[in-house]
Amino acid sequence: MRPYILSETNLKSVRENPPQLAVLPWGATECHNLHLPYGTDTIAVTRIGEKVCQGAWEQGAKVYLLPTMAFGVNTNMLAFPLVMNMNPTTQLAVLKDVVNNLKSAGVRKLLILNGHGGNDFNPLQRELFDSGVFIAACSWYTVCADVAGRIFEHRGDHADEMETSVGLHLFADLVAPLSQADEGKIRTTRFAAVNEGWVTITRPWDKLTTNSGVGNPYKATSDKGRKYIHAVVEKLTPFVVEFAKAEMDGMFPYVP
Ligand SMILES: [Zn+2]
Repeated sequence: MRPYILSETNLKSVRENPPQLAVLPWGATECHNLHLPYGTDTIAVTRIGEKVCQGAWEQGAKVYLLPTMAFGVNTNMLAFPLVMNMNPTTQLAVLKDVVNNLKSAGVRKLLILNGHGGNDFNPLQRELFDSGVFIAACSWYTVCADVAGRIFEHRGDHADEMETSVGLHLFADLVAPLSQADEGKIRTTRFAAVNEGWVTITRPWDKLTTNSGVGNPYKATSDKGRKYIHAVVEKLTPFVVEFAKAEMDGMFPYVP
């Protein structure tokens, strides 16, 4: 039994270790090119959450990893079979309930650990600002952008070299041979403003890609994934310890 994983722990252990912080991993269920599993985002964010919470617990932080939310915002991928969408407004309703549960349990801090690019927790954090639970959010794939730049040759944002390497490291048994994957080529839009990134759109994924992949995965290796995940966990764990142990005084989160 790992005492920092809520699904595994028991009432006796929770009573002996009053929670200081809850961590909610939030993934998605969607296709990832032709080689990675639909649960890629959910499995990866769960494994990373487990590693981070283990490290934080070993440093004395009473942090609890909540069960992972497996449905992400995927309105623009529904042309692919069995992609599961949860609308942002539904996510808000779910998060509101989770926050109320934490509040009843006396937990006043929550970290959402995000594993899917379509999820955006910023507006939800704002709407729940007054909930009595202080919500922080972090997408694990943005934690070490500098390290990613050194490790990976080809960058994309969906089932690319990075995500495939992470899959080969964390759940190799679920990764099909890379020869099965396509190159992850994408189309550019007809608008320079969108291509330059200063106008944003929601990308129709079936027209953007051939088989849902964005970014060439062929150079992915388990070793690259291990190096990258190690860097992410090493950087994220101290924050989780600090956040868990922080006093919720009148000036929180600022230095008085
Ligand atoms: Zn993904």
